[in-house]
Amino acid sequence: MSACKKRRLTVLGASGSIGVSTLDVVARHPERFEVVALSAHTRVEVLARQCLRHRPRYAVVASEPDARRLSGELAAAGLSTEVLSGPAALAQVAMLPEVDTVMAAIVGAAGLAPTLAAVRAGKRILLANKEALVMAGALFMAELRRSGATLLPIDSEHNAVFQSLPADYDGSFGRKGVRRILLTASGGPFLKTPLGELAGVTPDQACAHPNWVMGRKISVDSATMMNKGLEVIEAHWLFNAPAANIEVVIHPQSVIHSLVEYADGSVLAQLGNPDMRTPIAHALAYPERIDAGVASLDLFAVAQLNFERPDLSRFPCLALAYQALAAGGSAATTLNAANEVAVAAFLDGRLPYLAIAEVIAAVLDALPGAALADLEAVQGADQAARAAASAVLERRSR
Ligand code: NAD
Ligand code: MG
Repeated sequence: MSACKKRRLTVLGASGSIGVSTLDVVARHPERFEVVALSAHTRVEVLARQCLRHRPRYAVVASEPDARRLSGELAAAGLSTEVLSGPAALAQVAMLPEVDTVMAAIVGAAGLAPTLAAVRAGKRILLANKEALVMAGALFMAELRRSGATLLPIDSEHNAVFQSLPADYDGSFGRKGVRRILLTASGGPFLKTPLGELAGVTPDQACAHPNWVMGRKISVDSATMMNKGLEVIEAHWLFNAPAANIEVVIHPQSVIHSLVEYADGSVLAQLGNPDMRTPIAHALAYPERIDAGVASLDLFAVAQLNFERPDLSRFPCLALAYQALAAGGSAATTLNAANEVAVAAFLDGRLPYLAIAEVIAAVLDALPGAALADLEAVQGADQAARAAASAVLERRSR
């Protein structure tokens, strides 16, 4: 890419794990990328340092007082960064005419509105925020087709599938000889924990992932395997794949990031060290390849690759996700919202680990499914599921 055709980026969720890895890759290639806007929710100190390093035109934080404080700090350092606040500002920086690429790395449902704004504005979207696609898959994909925006998956499994699909894959599952998607999963920190001990596991134990360093919400999702359930739904929408053709394979080494099986029996996979800078660099530079700062894969050190079938009695959240995908309509929105409420309660010490799946199952049972025609309907279903999950938590604490 020539110097005058720099990619101009907005990074939503810059202060998080994916955001930090994104800026690490960007900093290695100043001739290719220019940071136009960065956002953080509450970790304003991290954002301040990122602004000093990348000198964006805009920065977005959650609250007015934080915005004023950051603005003063940046001005004192000689920066003219405009500091904005609130959800509308996130959508605004996702749609800026001078921005061509948006990294969607906010965690959870809060990422939906700004990511959808980027879709509607026809940007190139690097999607880490899988929850946005899970809660609004049909709407998201319809808007994508309408605007002609480009969607590149950052989730390591989906990025691996994307790399293993035919280059001209057009979403017609089965017609290009694509037979099956195999999503790999590490199994998380509790893969071998005796079932009887799961009742007492703590948030810190759940967040101690064996292979990946991630934010706390996705770390708990990895422990319950809800993360893989959300990823099955994500794969369904990204690749237009029926649930029956998406299989989850536990692969504790996290070296094979996922696989695609073809009609002739060929299975293509993408391998690499478990470092999110690989899929981030892939999507940032696509279709070119750039250095991500990731060490070469040492197969001699890995030595062994193991595979096993997920045990649904250990990982009931995975079964709940397949159930929500089969139900269609608002069920995945409900699943996602109930999971966010239950995981937040677990991280706060208000809910035992095993009750996460129970809360989600109760909410899925309680709420009737509905078709979701627009963003307001999605947000309504999300709110209804949050209220139902809070009511279940309330009943449990009595
Ligand atoms: P994180 O908790 O480290 O960071 C989350 C980011 O979102 C932060 O910048 C935070 O400021 C922002 N944020 C949080 N709540 C917000 C709100 N209400 N409004 C606006 N901004 C808010 O999370 P992460 O691990 O970087 O994950 C980000 C997304 O990427 C998630 O959807 C996750 O599932 C996905 N993902 C992460 C990884 C990983 O390795 N970390 C891998 C695959 C996918
Ligand atoms: Mg993943």
